[in-house]
Amino acid sequence: MQPAEPQDPRRSVPRTDAVLADPRVAAAVAERGRDVVKDVVRTVQQRVRAGEVPADALVAEVLAALPPAGTTLRRVLNATGAVLHTNLGRAQLSPAAVDAVVTAAGATDVELDLVTGRRARRGRGTMAALRAAVPAAGDVHVVNNGAAALVLVATALAAGKEIVVSRGELVEIGDGFRLPDLLESTGARLREVGTTNRTSLADYRAALSDRTGFVLKVHPSNFVVTGFTAGVEAVDLATLGVPVVVDIGSGLLTPDAALPDEPDATSVLAAGADLVTASGDKLLGGPQAGLLLGTADLVERLRRHPLARALRVDKLTLAALEATVRAAPNPTRDAVHADPEGLRERCAAVAEPLRLSGIDVSVEPSAAVVGGGGAPGVDLPSWVVSLPPDLAVALRTGDPSVAGRVEGGRLLLDLRTVPTDADELVVSAVRAVAR
Ligand SMILES: *Cc1c(COP(=O)(O)O)cnc(C)c1O
Repeated sequence: MQPAEPQDPRRSVPRTDAVLADPRVAAAVAERGRDVVKDVVRTVQQRVRAGEVPADALVAEVLAALPPAGTTLRRVLNATGAVLHTNLGRAQLSPAAVDAVVTAAGATDVELDLVTGRRARRGRGTMAALRAAVPAAGDVHVVNNGAAALVLVATALAAGKEIVVSRGELVEIGDGFRLPDLLESTGARLREVGTTNRTSLADYRAALSDRTGFVLKVHPSNFVVTGFTAGVEAVDLATLGVPVVVDIGSGLLTPDAALPDEPDATSVLAAGADLVTASGDKLLGGPQAGLLLGTADLVERLRRHPLARALRVDKLTLAALEATVRAAPNPTRDAVHADPEGLRERCAAVAEPLRLSGIDVSVEPSAAVVGGGGAPGVDLPSWVVSLPPDLAVALRTGDPSVAGRVEGGRLLLDLRTVPTDADELVVSAVRAVAR
């Protein structure tokens, strides 16, 4: 065996028990448990051996590398160009919504009237905000997610009865979950009408009977059918004389000029729908939730149904949803509406310091998407920072994690989906892995 050089980092790696005995590390052990800390110590020791970390910085590096207490979830900068990335948790909460979650985290008056000291309606502030945002709704109710909203409607209005729905709207929403299976799991039967590409009002009318619970219209939020097609709008379904429920999917409360083909709750209710269901964490930009907006009597039936208790949302969701609805700007809205020229400038400002560091970087035009099962076929013109593809894994596993997309042999970072105040973090993350 070769004698090691005196400056060989392997010689100077502090021993595990010595590191664990350091008071700062011992405090971390008391808080997080020995195994978690020991794993981090081992990893940092490896980095000292590899010469990446000076031996005298080991403890500081261990403390910095400890996962945040309580969750294994990591912060990720979404540079994929998909605004609502399903695997990254869909909508990013606004600062106001995050503050609201923190406020509600302890004891809070979610069900208490602080003036009278008596019980009050749960989530009344959130419901008031939604009613104010959608005056066309007689009342609103909130459940866990869009799927739960559909389950509650199907159970309360059509268990043992029929849901009349077009064959062109029997949608698979992702991860193998299919709306028809979800609806039938409630004990309702589907009465399919029309064909994959064409359904007429007469098809619906011919299917109605005393077994009809309601007519359901589902927005095809993750695919587009073009060519010889025909569907029936809510305004015409409303003439059928049975309850009309519209699943708009992505949760726009009012029309958005940037997404002209996305339905919104206000327009659909104004057209005569009795109930609208939608997700809270798609284009609305809020927490995961299922919104139910509609006539006061139907909403009251849903709220009073025993299943409503099993689907109810917690105080953190109510807080984040209220803040999202009351304050217009949020990261999802900002990302959808970002001006391409501003994005080009942000990309240039990120690329310049990287180029000066000798990194192979360029700024290219690109296209972002809404993603998350929204606005299929709509491209949002964008710009990307283009980097060598071998940086992808290191960036994704770095801290903070930066997720881009590899396309055409390059790693592309689309800043449309990165919060504006995080651009500098992108620069330092790329610098750190490109060394
Ligand atoms: C996303 C979506 C759902 C499911 O909503 P979740 O909030 O994911 O449960 C149902 N219907 C449509 C049309 C959707 O786009």
